[in-house]
Amino acid sequence: MNIKNKAATVFTVLILLLIGYIIYQSLKAPTPVIIQAGHEGRTCGNTGAVCKNYTEVEWNILVANEAARQLREWGIEVKRVPADVLSQRAQVAVAIHFDSARRICRSGASVGYPDTNASRMFATHWKQLYKPWFPFKWHNDNFTDNLKNYYAYKTIRAEKFAVLELGEITCEKQAKWLRPRLEKIAKLIAYTIATELGKEVPKPKL
Ligand SMILES: [Zn+2]
Repeated sequence: MNIKNKAATVFTVLILLLIGYIIYQSLKAPTPVIIQAGHEGRTCGNTGAVCKNYTEVEWNILVANEAARQLREWGIEVKRVPADVLSQRAQVAVAIHFDSARRICRSGASVGYPDTNASRMFATHWKQLYKPWFPFKWHNDNFTDNLKNYYAYKTIRAEKFAVLELGEITCEKQAKWLRPRLEKIAKLIAYTIATELGKEVPKPKL
């Protein structure tokens, strides 16, 4: 086989593998739950503001892991993913974040979601549980472009997707409130997701 033929063969095989992968992905049932820890696995340079604030990603991972653990304990299949993911489908997906603000203590908690009824209702369900408990500022839904057009809405195609901004980590008062409550917050996230999937699970005590 000459070099040209070899290259053509390799190219054809790659194309066939790609087509196979796409078919496999579209036939596979969606994962029940995907939990993404915001910024996980990214390094300084492609994370912007987060670079200055290492704790956000640590807290994101902590909350995402605990929410996943709780859901699995309730018998629900969960996929835990970092910031960068390949295209996939889910019934319910959440991305965990804490906000940071240049003018400290001006921010707080919020939710973001793609423009669908199912996602809005899911996000509202979360808000109804977290907002009465969280004693700081709450923004309007999708108050930034990052929330409205979150990059992972395209890669993680979920029937219900919500980005959860759990509070402002750069505000000491909020951070002090959040720190000892991270596990409880995670359990409340797990509870929201489980009930969204129609599972009857005990409501965590806050
Ligand atoms: Zn973030």
